[in-house]
Amino acid sequence: MTEATLNVDQHEVSKFEELAHRWWDPHSEFKPLHDINPLRLDFVDRRVGLSGKQVLDVGCGGGILAESMAVRGARVTGIDMGEAPLSVAKLHLLESGAEVDYQRTTAEAFAAANPGRFDVVTCMEMLEHVPDPASVVEACARLVRPGGHLFFSTLNRNPKSFLFAIVGAEYVLNMLPRGTHDYAKFIRPSELESWTRAADLELKELAGMTYNPLFRNYSLGHDLSVNYLAHCIRP
Ligand code: SAH
Repeated sequence: MTEATLNVDQHEVSKFEELAHRWWDPHSEFKPLHDINPLRLDFVDRRVGLSGKQVLDVGCGGGILAESMAVRGARVTGIDMGEAPLSVAKLHLLESGAEVDYQRTTAEAFAAANPGRFDVVTCMEMLEHVPDPASVVEACARLVRPGGHLFFSTLNRNPKSFLFAIVGAEYVLNMLPRGTHDYAKFIRPSELESWTRAADLELKELAGMTYNPLFRNYSLGHDLSVNYLAHCIRP
């Protein structure tokens, strides 16, 4: 594939490149990723037992999830198309002493070279930033071994998610820079489900990650209306 036909929206990747130096500052634009990380890390670990597993984190950014999975004992590879986020992720390893293999590539290209290589594939808060998310889901399905686990997280598309994820987070609470998210690219659980089905995956579970603006914290639950997580298995 040439650069022009890659499943990459350069404008989206540039947004993350510009902010990347603040990735590990828990009070920065990346605060929401820091805040949800313990929840999603435990969600994955409870279902797969991360220790000793071969794990791929697709769209790993500065490595918040990738590194935390390595600390739990997984052998983690992180891929992303952003140069600056990957540099930050690699630098942070020097500070933490964790080990992660970071590479600049797309899910599709990496899948062509590494079919069935991973026990677990995670792809968090990334699908809503790519031109063809179904193609990423399909690539993730090829990367995991039969019997392996996949985890996706993204933002739902409905009036409430518009209010919380765009108006609330970008305009009222100023948690995220304006323009971080494009509402039209948000993904309904039914859409994600149809893409996982098309990739021959079995969808095991959907869980919501809900933000409480009063206490300014997140919790896991059944409310899928804004942020949600999906757990799939490759049969
Ligand atoms: N998954 C991480 C980072 C989410 S931010 C976390 O949840 O902590 C979204 C990331 O997706 C950014 O780092 C961005 O560079 C990356 N990204 C966007 N489009 C991509 C693509 N087509 N291929 C690989 N990475 C991509």
